[in-house]
Amino acid sequence: MARVVVTGGAGFLGSHLCDSLLARGDAVVCIDNLVTGSVSNVEHLFTQREFQFVEHDVSEYIRVPGEVDAVLHFASPASPIDYLEIPIQTLKVGSLGTHNALGLAKAKGAKFLIASTSEVYGIPQVHPQHESYWGNVNPVGPRGVYDEAKRFSEAMTMAYHRYHSLDTRIVRIFNTYGPRMRPGDGRVVSNFIVQALKGRPLTIYGDGSQTRSFCYVDDEIRGLVALLDSDENDPVNIGNPDEFTISQLAEIVVEVVGSASGIEYHDLPVDDPTQRRPDITRAREILGWEPKIELRNGVERTVEYFVGLAGF
Ligand code: UDP
Repeated sequence: MARVVVTGGAGFLGSHLCDSLLARGDAVVCIDNLVTGSVSNVEHLFTQREFQFVEHDVSEYIRVPGEVDAVLHFASPASPIDYLEIPIQTLKVGSLGTHNALGLAKAKGAKFLIASTSEVYGIPQVHPQHESYWGNVNPVGPRGVYDEAKRFSEAMTMAYHRYHSLDTRIVRIFNTYGPRMRPGDGRVVSNFIVQALKGRPLTIYGDGSQTRSFCYVDDEIRGLVALLDSDENDPVNIGNPDEFTISQLAEIVVEVVGSASGIEYHDLPVDDPTQRRPDITRAREILGWEPKIELRNGVERTVEYFVGLAGF
């Protein structure tokens, strides 16, 4: 049994991670400032003796009494509409927050894992994206606040690994979806599902030809826990390599929901990547991991979750 600190533990991915760690017998200290996370994602864990919730902004010094075996840094807005609305907090949690979380891991002699992102590849000029690709990011564009914070967090993590011999992991997470995304999250899967359930037009940005590769949350969590348990210090992509255009995703959502929703075209956001697909050779070889849940099935499960929420 290990005692694990999860920053952003009340968020979408963080809360699933808390579930998974507790289920295997770990004790979890979940830290979240509830800016984009929500108590409702973790309140089912409040009765578990091995679960502790701390409301705190990890961009400020992090104090955790007692032994800690691992620090997993998941705190960050992750939806473009969120990080465009709170750009400075996004930069702070990726930079100061990562530094504080690394400092905690170093003080406790704990392992450290940073939740990085496919956004470090920017608008990729290599396809699919292998971990060896350095990316094509616009530092001064609106998305730069997230992308550069995550790139900084990777650099800081490697510096702690090299200079302090900290045992570190870097996971590059590709578009992940599933239960506990907020209805107003703004990312494409939750937007389309909510719109289809309400019988409203699905909002496609641009002409819908841009691609993404969507990973169901259970697969994503299994992959990143496998990475945590490995001894791999270099970045590893964890995502589903099945690539879809946004128009194809819209069709699937409309079919699964059985909705009569049409399509409404909107402007493409600035610096929106034209294509994205992980090369998961390293995850397959090092972790023996690959995703199992195909998009239609994952969308069905996610629709079920949204139907269960009040208001649908
Ligand atoms: N998108 C869309 N309609 C929406 C929300 C997003 O067409 O209502 C597009 C967005 O422009 C992007 C893709 O879907 O090309 C994925 O967007 P998301 O915000 O989910 O994540 P990203 O991969 O861009 O960070």
